[in-house]
Formats: sequence, structure tokens, C-alpha cells
Amino acid sequence: MELDGKVSLVSGASRGIGRAIALSLADAGSDVIVNYVKNVDAAQAVVEQIQAMGRRAIAMKADVSKSEQTDAMIDQAQEELGTIQILVNNAGITRDRSFMKLSRENWHEVLMVNLDGAFNLVGKLLPDMVESKWGRVVNISSIVAQMGNFGQSNYAVAKGGLIAFTKSLSREVARKGVTINAVAPGFIETDMTAAVSKDALDTVRSLTPMNRLGTPDEVAVAVRFLASKGASFITGQVINVNGGMYM
Ligand code: NAP
Repeated sequence: MELDGKVSLVSGASRGIGRAIALSLADAGSDVIVNYVKNVDAAQAVVEQIQAMGRRAIAMKADVSKSEQTDAMIDQAQEELGTIQILVNNAGITRDRSFMKLSRENWHEVLMVNLDGAFNLVGKLLPDMVESKWGRVVNISSIVAQMGNFGQSNYAVAKGGLIAFTKSLSREVARKGVTINAVAPGFIETDMTAAVSKDALDTVRSLTPMNRLGTPDEVAVAVRFLASKGASFITGQVINVNGGMYM
């Protein structure tokens, strides 16, 4: 199997895109740490699905915005499953408001989970990846970083920050066998988009050449590819998975 013997950490893997990524990496042969913050039952269900595939998996609760929690999660997970060499920074939230209604708290909350979350996990895992001369980091950005979106200035900044982080960090570790890439999904059918109004989603469909939303599995395909051993000369890139909405 492509990822046999590898251990992956997927943040926010209890639902939606993260869940699909965790299952896809397991299908490729990886053992998986299924991170979540609230939904223990959903995370445990993902773990059971992975175990049924013959891979090792554990559900680990940690708020990615809190480094004491992510550090403790990684220490315990590595004790149980071994060194993590694949990291997918997927955990994310939205707090949508037009800028003039956006509170400082809404601004910081989104930055803390989407951007500081990646800082916390990469900061803890990168030294071992560099030391072992092999690692894969995939950051889940968004089409909103590329196009902007009404009511999402906080989210656009966080997701744009992830692209900038991807490009800068990839230059720093390129010679060490560690690749850092990003995936920028368009609008994907998950709980996150279930909160968006029907009218807004109709507009999204009409602006998308494929005239539909994407599925979590369609995002997971790109992540699995970037995490693969074969994707060894690809770094600092952003792969768009958006049905052609932004080219
Ligand atoms: P989702 O359905 O809302 O799921 C969010 C996941 O993140 C859940 O597993 C949740 O865990 C976890 N999470 C939330 N806050 C966390 C925290 N502080 N610490 C750890 N885990 C946390 O979201 P999604 O639509 O699958 O989105 C996944 C990623 O793709 C996000 O980064 C999102 O911004 C990005 N994205 C989504 C879309 C889209 O259209 N859906 C488009 C572009 C980019 P619990 O279950 O425990 O709450």
C-alpha cells in the first residue's frame, strides 16, 4: 500500500472533509489519528471504520487553537501509534459577519482555529519530519482565500494566511524531504455549508461550471495525492478542488 507504515494526523476528522481525508489516508495504508474537539461519537465512528480496514486509529480530543492541548494530544498519540509523518491541517470554523458587524472575538476565533491551529500542529511535528528526512503537510485552505467573499473577511484572512504559510514554509524545508502543500476547496457539501442559505448556495452553483457543490471525497482525493510518497517533487503548491469556480 502507498502509505503503509505511515502515521497521519488529521485535525477535525470527526466530520465532513476531515473525515473523508482520514478514511482515504487509511485506505492508502496509513494509520490515522482522528482529531476532534466536541463530537466524540462521530470521531469514534470514524476510528471504527478505519479499524475495519485493518489500520490502527485513535480518536483524540484537542482544540487545535490551544497549544497545550495539541502538544498533549501529539505526545499521547505518538506513544500509541508512533511518529507522525503526515499532517493534514483541516480543522476550521467560520464566524460569518459583514466587516462592520464583525466583533474582535469573531475575528480572533477564526484566526485562532484555522491559522494558529496549523502553527501549533506544524510547530510540534516538523522537527521530527525534518530529522527523519520525510514528511507531508497539507493545509486545507479555501476558494475564499483566492476570491474573497461577502461576510468572510476573517475567514479569508485565515485561509489566505494558510496559503502564504504553505509557500514560505515549503521553501524552508524543501531540502529536508518534507513537502508543504495546500488544497483550496470550493463549496463542498458538509455541515459548514449546510449553514449557508439556499439562495447563496444557488448563486454558488450558478457560478460553478460544474453547476453543483463538491463532495468531501472529491477533496480527499487531492490530499491523498499530495500525501503520497510519489508526490515528492511537489511543494509550495495550492491544488484547487472547486468544480472550476475559480481558475
Ligand atoms: P465541518 O463539517 O464544520 O467540520 C469541522 C471539523 O473541524 C469537525 O471535525 C470539528 O470537530 C473540527 N473542529 C472545529 N473546531 C475545532 C477545533 N478548535 N479543534 C479541533 N477540531 C475542530 O467542516 P468542513 O466543511 O468539513 O471543513 C473542513 C475544512 O475545510 C475547514 O478548514 C474548512 O474551513 C475547509 N473548507 C470547507 C469548505 C466547505 O465548503 N465545506 C470549503 C473550503 C474550505 P467536532 O466534530 O468535534 O466539532
